Parts: sequence; C-alpha cells; structure tokens
Amino acid sequence: MPKIALNGVTVDFPFQPYPCQEEYMSKVLECLQKKVNGLLESPTGTGKTLCLLCTTLAWREHLRDTISARKIAERAQGELFPDRTLSSWGLAASDGDTTACYMDIPKIIYASRTHSQLTQVISELRNTSYRPRVCVLGSREQLCIHPEVKKQESNHMQIHLCRKKVASRSCRFYNNVEEKSLQQELATPILDIEDLVRSGNKHGLCPYYLSRNLKQQADIIFMPYNYLLDAKSRRAHGIDLKGTVVIFDEAHNVEKMCEETASFDLTPHDLASGLDVIDQVLEEQTKAAQQDGLHVEFSADSANS
Ligand code: SF4
Repeated sequence: MPKIALNGVTVDFPFQPYPCQEEYMSKVLECLQKKVNGLLESPTGTGKTLCLLCTTLAWREHLRDTISARKIAERAQGELFPDRTLSSWGLAASDGDTTACYMDIPKIIYASRTHSQLTQVISELRNTSYRPRVCVLGSREQLCIHPEVKKQESNHMQIHLCRKKVASRSCRFYNNVEEKSLQQELATPILDIEDLVRSGNKHGLCPYYLSRNLKQQADIIFMPYNYLLDAKSRRAHGIDLKGTVVIFDEAHNVEKMCEETASFDLTPHDLASGLDVIDQVLEEQTKAAQQDGLHVEFSADSANS
C-alpha cells in the first residue's frame, strides 16, 4: 500500500490517491493538528470516507509515537541530563508541530446517519492497513439475543425487561460479558453490528453490553448521529465528548436529523380529538353560564376557527 507523506504525517492509503484526495486529506490533517473544526466538501465518489479514515488513523498513530518519544525524552532528560533542555533532543521529542498541544491520544468518534451507512464505513476500514480497536454502538432492539426479551413488542418493554434481568442477573448472556478472555478475543477483530450479534450468539454473551464494554478501550467508536446529538442519549450510552475527535460523515444530513429528533407528528386524528375536547369544554361553559342566568353564545364553528 502506498505511503503518502502529508503535513509531516505518513498516511497508508490503499492505492495512489488522486490530487483531490491528497488535498482533502491534507485539510483533514490541518484541522486535527491545529485542533480546529473543519467543514469539508468533496463530490460524491471521491472516496471521502476512505480519506477520512486513513488520515485520522494515521494522525492518531503519529501522535501516539510523538507522545511516547516526548515521554522518553523527558525521562532521559530528567534522569541523565538535568542541564539539557527538551528542545535540544530534536523534533521527534519536542514535536515542533502543533500536535504538541495534545497530552493524551484522543478517541475518534465516527458518526453517520444510519447503521447501514456505518456498516459500509466499517467495511472500508477493513480495506485499509489500519487495525484500530473498534466499537460500534447499537440499541437493545438491534443487539439483544435473549429470546424472551427480543420478542417483546415495544422497545420500551425490551428495555424494561432487560434491566430487570440484568439487575437480578438472570440473563446468562449478560453474566458472560464479564468473561475477560472472551472480551480480549472480541476486542481485536473489526466487528460491525451484524458481526457483534453473530459473535454474541456463538459465544453466548450479550452483544449490547459487549459493545458498551468495548467502548472503554476502543480507538474508534462508530455510532449513528442521534446517539451523539441527543444529550439524553449521550448520557444513556456513557458518551463523553471531552478530548475526542468527532467526525460527522455526510454531515449535510445532520440538520434533518436534528429536526426529526426535535419533532413529533400531529395526525388528523389528534387534531379532530382536540377539537372534540374544545367543543365539550365550550358546551360545559355554556351550560354553567346559563345556570348563572348569563347569555353566552358559542358555536362549534367559532371554536374551530
Ligand atoms: S443483557 Fe443483553 S441479551 Fe440479556 S436481555 Fe439485556 S440486551 Fe438482551
């Protein structure tokens, strides 16, 4: 795989990139190195997802190496050469570029609109040479493998029953999640939602809680937008944005997703029921007024208008 040097970072790309891809990747790197927000646009079919994945993971590896080199240099300086300044150890140790402002290696949060889009992104990741620790977040509805819980009609009922079983430790799939050796085994391959369910069935452990556990040690976490944009959902999934790099793939969908999250449907039936209630209230008021000897005139038409 060609290794491309961009902005001081070596990017492993599956093929020789086109000039527009190089330009895109160098802009992604610039945002990461300067710790600024970026809004990047590129026509359909120009391999944005691949560029985003390769660049972000290459930058993360570069940062990890830089931080390790800096720590070694600091230790060596302190122990052996107390009179030498850190900068005298050269660029690798003192960094010299803007990545020096990062003290820890950030997790990457990769958000897309739907799980099927995320599955495509994960399959693109498999085509690269990068093998980060991956976690994909999903709902109980998608991940539960308990036959009794799965057949509940509503999402609400599933959550309720699952919580009950977890609290009483009566879900054997949940009890197996704490099995450390299996967790280690499943932390290495790049698993999407369907792989998680398959592995859960094979090893007899809950894919939902497994994905939550994998999140702690993951280098890159995949999730749909709504997990990230809704504060309640972020809390429920234990997502902490502090110190993370957040990527919104196909970000033109974000506005619509926010609109949908904050909206509800008002059906003709809801409106008709509302009007019925108003009519009833007005009738009651008219009766009460007549009993008090007042003359009040209401009509359904005036209420409806
Ligand atoms: S712990 Fe997992 S497998 Fe068990 S009921 Fe809950 S979601 Fe389903």
